[in-house]
Amino acid sequence: MEIHHDRHHAGYTSKLNAAIEGTDLADKAIGDILSNLDMSNKAVRNNGGGYYNHDLFWKVMSPNGGGNPTGDIAKAIDADLGSFEDFKEAFSNAAKTQFGSGWAWLCVKHGKLEVCSSANQDNPMMPGIGCGGTPILGLDVWEHAYYLNYQNKRPDYVNAFFNVINWDEVNKRYKDAL
Ligand code: MN
Repeated sequence: MEIHHDRHHAGYTSKLNAAIEGTDLADKAIGDILSNLDMSNKAVRNNGGGYYNHDLFWKVMSPNGGGNPTGDIAKAIDADLGSFEDFKEAFSNAAKTQFGSGWAWLCVKHGKLEVCSSANQDNPMMPGIGCGGTPILGLDVWEHAYYLNYQNKRPDYVNAFFNVINWDEVNKRYKDAL
């Protein structure tokens, strides 16, 4: 996680800053940049996605995380996705079946929860990507995220993620995204 944060995430951040410096994107919020992105702008697509996705990833994990969600997000999971077990199955499937590098997402779209995945550093807020919602939980399934600990065993890494999800943070982001 330290290497992932200090090298991979830091790399996306400095490359994003270099790509937008002196352009009209420089003073915009990252959410605005991604939702109005010109998808042919590869430097901002890859590094802006990389910056945002990892920023979300760190914040939705906690050493005291895991367990069952509570509050509004728990009710919304039951209402929109069937049950917590159904959510876990859908999210795990999205993470395990994303071919090559990418992310699995829990998003809010038009007030409802949806699970989807995206390739590379694409983010569902970008035009035409994934479910097109606002991501409130994301799992990095690039090999750099798990190879040091899990080698080729992506499913073990995906299963372990459920032990560290910070549901308080996901709940906060759920309410903000409504
Ligand atoms: Mn990563």
